[in-house]
Amino acid sequence: MSQKIAQELLQILVCPLCKSKLVFDAKNNELICFESKLAYKIKDGIPVLLIDEARKIEE
Ligand SMILES: [Zn+2]
Repeated sequence: MSQKIAQELLQILVCPLCKSKLVFDAKNNELICFESKLAYKIKDGIPVLLIDEARKIEE
């Protein structure tokens, strides 16, 4: 359910930092910005698009 909501939100959501499109990571239930290398959490189906709350992606 939360996955479906996230997929639909993905059409309109962009990264608050760089305005790039976000990629949904179903495995971690996060929205990924590869430009900023940040992962935004999804709480109860609602993406938390706060830079302070985002997790840094390590490569
Ligand atoms: Zn970004």
